[in-house]
Amino acid sequence: MLTGKTAVITGGSRGIGKAIALRMAKSGADIALVYAGNEEAARQTAGELAALRVKVKFYRCDVSDFEAVKGTIDQIITDFGGIDILVNNAGIVRDRLVLSMTPEDFEKVMDINLKGAFYMIKHCYPIFMKKRAGRIINISSVSGLMGNPGQANYSAAKAGMVGLTKTVAKELAGRGVTCNAIAPGFIQTDMTEAMPEKARQEAVAAIPLKRMGTAEDVAGLAAFLASAEAGYITGEVIKVDGGLYI
Ligand code: NDP
Repeated sequence: MLTGKTAVITGGSRGIGKAIALRMAKSGADIALVYAGNEEAARQTAGELAALRVKVKFYRCDVSDFEAVKGTIDQIITDFGGIDILVNNAGIVRDRLVLSMTPEDFEKVMDINLKGAFYMIKHCYPIFMKKRAGRIINISSVSGLMGNPGQANYSAAKAGMVGLTKTVAKELAGRGVTCNAIAPGFIQTDMTEAMPEKARQEAVAAIPLKRMGTAEDVAGLAAFLASAEAGYITGEVIKVDGGLYI
C-alpha cells in the first residue's frame, strides 16, 4: 500500500511514533526516524524496521530547533531522494496546575509540540508543493479538544495543532496534499507510564471502552491516512480515544 513511499516520523523511536513506523513499514514504506536523544531506542527501532526489509535511517534532531530541522530534512532528501509522508508525532509533557506552571514549562511544551510540527511542515511544504503530492499527519490529543487539568501548556499546544492542521489542509489542497490530525486519548506508552496508579484507574473508568489504547490503535489510522484510499480526506481531526470524548 505504501511501497515506494518515504515516511518521516518524528518521535519515531518509541511509543506511538514507533508503532506508526512499524505499521507503515509493514505496508512497504521506507522510514526516516527523527528522535531527540535516546539513541539506544532509535537504534533498536531501526533494527526492527530493517527486519521488515525497508530502507531505514535515524536522525537525532530537536524538532524545536528550526535550523536543525532544516538540516535534517535536507539530509533525508539526500539519503532517500524525496519525502512523501510526514508524521508530526514528537511530543513531551510538563504537567502542573496553572498556579505552579512556570513560563518555561509552558514555552518548552509549545516549542516542541507545536512549533516543532510547524518547523517540520515548513521545511517539507516546498517539497510537497513541487511534487503535487504528500501526506501530513499531526498527532494532536483529546486534551487539545476537551482540556485537561494540569495540562494548560499541552492542551494549548495540541489545540494549536488542530488550527495548524486545518490551515495547512486548506493551503495545500490545491496541490493534492492532505493534512489531517489524530487526537488520541490515553495510550499506553512511556508518556503515560509515569501516571500514578490511582490516576490511571480513574482515567480507565472514564473511558467508555474501559481500557487504555495501544500505540497500534493509533498506528492503523495513521497508515490509512497516509494511503491512497484516504486521498479525499483532509483537514480532519480524528479521535482514537475509546469514546473518552463523545
Ligand atoms: P513517548 O514519550 O513514548 O515518546 C516521545 C517521542 O518523541 C520519543 O521518540 C522522543 O525521542 C521524541 N521526542 C521528544 N522530544 C523531542 C524533540 N524535541 N525532538 C524530536 N523528538 C522528540 O510519547 P508517546 O508515544 O506517548 O506520544 C507520542 C505523541 O502522541 C506525542 O505528541 C503525544 O503528545 C501524543 N499523545 C500521546 C498520548 C498518550 O496517551 N501516550 C495521548 C495523546 C497524544 P527520544 O526517544 O529520543 O526521547
